[in-house]
Amino acid sequence: MIKPLTLLGWMALFGWLSLFGINANALVILQYHHISDKTPFITSTAPEIFEAHLDHLIAEDIEVVALEKALTADPTSVGSNHVVKVAITFDDAFPSVLVKALPLLTERQLPFTLFVATDLIETSRNRYLSWEDLKTIQTAGGTIANHSTRHQHWARKPSDQSMQAWTKAFIADALEAQAMLEANLGPVPKLYALPYGEYLPALASALENEGFTVFGQQSGAMAYPPQLVVPRFPMGGPYSDINRFKTKVRTRPFPRQPKRHQPLLHGLETRPIINLKTIASKEFERITCFGPEGRLTPSTVNDNVLIGASQPLKPGRARYNCTQMSDQPGRYFWHSFFWMKLDSDNRWYPEP
Ligand SMILES: [Zn+2]
Repeated sequence: MIKPLTLLGWMALFGWLSLFGINANALVILQYHHISDKTPFITSTAPEIFEAHLDHLIAEDIEVVALEKALTADPTSVGSNHVVKVAITFDDAFPSVLVKALPLLTERQLPFTLFVATDLIETSRNRYLSWEDLKTIQTAGGTIANHSTRHQHWARKPSDQSMQAWTKAFIADALEAQAMLEANLGPVPKLYALPYGEYLPALASALENEGFTVFGQQSGAMAYPPQLVVPRFPMGGPYSDINRFKTKVRTRPFPRQPKRHQPLLHGLETRPIINLKTIASKEFERITCFGPEGRLTPSTVNDNVLIGASQPLKPGRARYNCTQMSDQPGRYFWHSFFWMKLDSDNRWYPEP
């Protein structure tokens, strides 16, 4: 008779499988803003497309999980090559989440999380949902979580402030937002979505030390345990396309977690280099990467596989997206490297 595995046994099996990249225990997090066809295209998903996304998840028997519950690995799924879990998130609390998304989600009994910048709820009442609306969403089964107080650009540390003082201000702001959420809605989990997806690793790490899980806006599947800034797939505008959606919800993280990534690029750093050896252990030739100007061609130097932009990156946010077909048909490893490129005088790019 086979004895059930002890906790130590599970941990050993988990480690062994991870070592060989066999473990497919991954979470794919979707990031939406507006569910509307009347709001800015790039941050909007049309209601019928959103509904098609939900129906695809149900038709394919893909488990939709509550984000806060999915952050720790489920040992019962360790070793399965077919586990696909998806979490649904919204940023900013736009009215269409209540009016359009909520009925579609509750009808299908799907959990979701809404990240809220707390001061904007108070000061921009026409633009965002009210506390009462958020309570309605919470009562209907949605989770409300932290998106700062005023949706600040926290990566933009003023040059006259020390990193220590800036980190203190960032943490104080996150805790203030958390206190505001709890004062209006009761206890909420420690989940924080970075405004604009922008970050400095030291800030994200300090917030993690406060017990928060920190989410970005770079695409990719979440590994277990979660990486420093957890990826989410943006689902607005062209990224809402149903065929792309079908591929993305089945993605997996690369077998190895990349080294801590420093996304801020100063004046002359226009072609940042990534060593793919830090994420994949073999078969580099099967990895495909794209930057803002198209496909990135890898070069090999002393057993390292390097990718860099084919054209200098322009000031603004940019990404290198890398994929590779995994050992499971139809499932890609997916990782996106996020950049914030300052201009040649080290000034920040304007928000569009
Ligand atoms: Zn936001």
